[in-house]
Amino acid sequence: AKRAGRGIVRVFDESMDESIRFRRLIESGLSQAIRNGELKLVFQPIVAREKLEVTGFEALLRWHSPEYGMISPGMFIPIAEESNLIHELGDWVIDEAVRVLQTWPGQYVSVNFSPRQFRRSNFVGHIVERVQHRGVSPQRFQIEITETAIFDDAERAADTLYRLRQMGFRIALDDFGTGYSSLYNIRKFALDSLKIDRSFVDGMGKERESAAIVHSIIHLGRALGLEVVAEGVETETQLQALRVAGCSHLQGYYLARPMPEEDALFLAKARYMI
Ligand code: C2E
Ligand code: CA
Ligand code: CA
Ligand code: CA
Repeated sequence: AKRAGRGIVRVFDESMDESIRFRRLIESGLSQAIRNGELKLVFQPIVAREKLEVTGFEALLRWHSPEYGMISPGMFIPIAEESNLIHELGDWVIDEAVRVLQTWPGQYVSVNFSPRQFRRSNFVGHIVERVQHRGVSPQRFQIEITETAIFDDAERAADTLYRLRQMGFRIALDDFGTGYSSLYNIRKFALDSLKIDRSFVDGMGKERESAAIVHSIIHLGRALGLEVVAEGVETETQLQALRVAGCSHLQGYYLARPMPEEDALFLAKARYMI
């Protein structure tokens, strides 16, 4: 029993080493990546229900490592988020989005912010300086945050969002329905948009519960005068069901995959899908 016990401890230790080693690789690789130009933003259109007009683009981060190939943000964002690296990374993303906005016609760019970025001291001043002071209208810069970012300190988050919205920035609540924010809390936050998490859209045609959740989010959004964006639209059936349900905006592979800047600019100028 003792030997087995020691065995388990040893295996556990090794996997710990492994994950720490992986984390270190990502951490050191990532700050290099910023300097070496290995990062890129791709842009996925957000489309209005009726005429499939492209109203905005979500900016999504990509890391092409010459050593390891394509590393998905789901892999490295959580690691960056645990250190101050997220600020360096986040600022790079903001600057890129601002640069792109200076060349695009009228659409907005929606930028993902992690909870740690959102909670940094003087977040508002930071955004104003990096976006507005560079001549980009706040109406064209959307801040995407998740419920996790605002749940911990709802008072302070509400104040931050209020001030940003006063200045004209757009605010979207991402992955809506998966976090902890109660419906009661939602009305305290200054928002423009609710993004229905992909898992509900995916489940819509499969189980009644998901369809019911999608419908209630759409109703809630309408009642509060918000845009509602369905994420992860992958089929014609989902597209039609969401349009019929009155979901105001759509995003997903069925409409378009995240694309490089040049293609997004082309689409931005064309204004409509297809
Ligand atoms: P998210 O914000 O929920 O972004 C949506 C994810 O769903 C993206 O994955 C997108 O490529 C993917 N997606 C879009 N349409 C479809 C679809 O129809 N089907 C499926 N299966 N997936 C679809 P991606 O680009 O791998 O990003 C993963 C997550 O990484 C994002 O989830 C976001 O939380 C985070 N992330 C990405 N870029 C940034 C960034 O610049 N900053 C921060 N803080 N987080 C980022
Ligand atoms: Ca997002
Ligand atoms: Ca999302
Ligand atoms: Ca997500």
